[in-house]
Amino acid sequence: MAFDLIYLDNSATTELDPQVVEIMNRFREENFANAGSVHRSGQRARVALEDGRDTIARCLGAEPKEIVFTSGGTEANNYALKGYAFHAKATTGSWPTIITDRTEHHAILHPAEFLESLGLPVRYVEVTREGRVTPENLDQLMQSLPNQPAPPLISIMHANNETGTINPIRELAEVTHERGGVIHTDAVQSFGKIPCKVAELGVDMMTLSAHKIHGPKGVGLLYVNKELELESLIHGGAQERDRRGGTEAVELVVGFAEAARIAEENREEAMREVERLSHRLRERLKGIEGVCFVTPEAGALPNILNITFNSAEHLDGEGLIVGMDIQGVAVSNGSACTSGSMQPSHVLLAMGYPPAQAKAAVRFSLSRFTTEAEIDRATEAMAEQFKIQQAKLKK
Ligand code: PLP
Repeated sequence: MAFDLIYLDNSATTELDPQVVEIMNRFREENFANAGSVHRSGQRARVALEDGRDTIARCLGAEPKEIVFTSGGTEANNYALKGYAFHAKATTGSWPTIITDRTEHHAILHPAEFLESLGLPVRYVEVTREGRVTPENLDQLMQSLPNQPAPPLISIMHANNETGTINPIRELAEVTHERGGVIHTDAVQSFGKIPCKVAELGVDMMTLSAHKIHGPKGVGLLYVNKELELESLIHGGAQERDRRGGTEAVELVVGFAEAARIAEENREEAMREVERLSHRLRERLKGIEGVCFVTPEAGALPNILNITFNSAEHLDGEGLIVGMDIQGVAVSNGSACTSGSMQPSHVLLAMGYPPAQAKAAVRFSLSRFTTEAEIDRATEAMAEQFKIQQAKLKK
């Protein structure tokens, strides 16, 4: 990492893999044409775009035509929820119900709230103390829904961006389908960390984002099962099979495809090492008085470790993170979008943590570029910052 920074904020974003940079630069130098142009340059750009789509489809076990490129995870989530809702309303005359949960990223919660403001019913399924949606809770909620012409849409994230908690998507998909619904999962954090084949998960829609896997910012995708139709959100040209107008960002797709290929091909080996480092981090942090682990020991992503403190009401969570930054360690308090204002994490609140503990949370997120020396240095910095805070309290 540049600037001698120990970067443990990989759930917010990741550094570009040099291999991805190289392939994007090469493409950029060779071809700037519009993939919609009929001349040879345009056709070469089209081939690069479709090669990228093929590569990513293979990583997901999907068909290329089931991949719709977007500007990132946020747009893909908006497309899943709004595209489904608008299509259902247009074809059945009534809104579908959306079921989600309160630990989701704002890129799900806010589109759901927007749709609710238009009259669409939104229901929230309870999560466990570990932040997990259980098939039993989903089944109970789905049973209680009134009969409606449009099948309900279930949107539950594969793994949480703040805690790393993994949801049992396959089982949730089974419940959803048994009860006649459609299921979307936000796999922005899980892809490249755990298996994400769409058929194994049984999902109808899935969101990915390139910048979480050492790819470029500004590109992501929505996998849409070929049997499912969505209303377009961006009307314009006939790009993406008429599903998203706008000249395709071919060089971003080229980078995304390379990042996805590397992430998937090296996943098991890379994540074994990341898991070893996370375990080392967890063991070392246990030495700090009053630390409690929000990230469960089992059933969580290997790269995320979220902690808070027993005596959190006396702690300044923001101070801890700023202090870590001064010592050259980048960590975060929950999601990047809320960290500017340091509100208590909505995820921890949904899990039942009191506001003080939800505010004092610190998230360490590793990548395959993280080293053991960085983990050890980060633990020392954390212990030091904790001591500084304790000394302040005694004054
Ligand atoms: N979903 C989750 C779980 C995320 O962590 C993020 C990014 O923080 C997003 C969606 C949004 O993705 P993007 O930044 O590509 O819009």
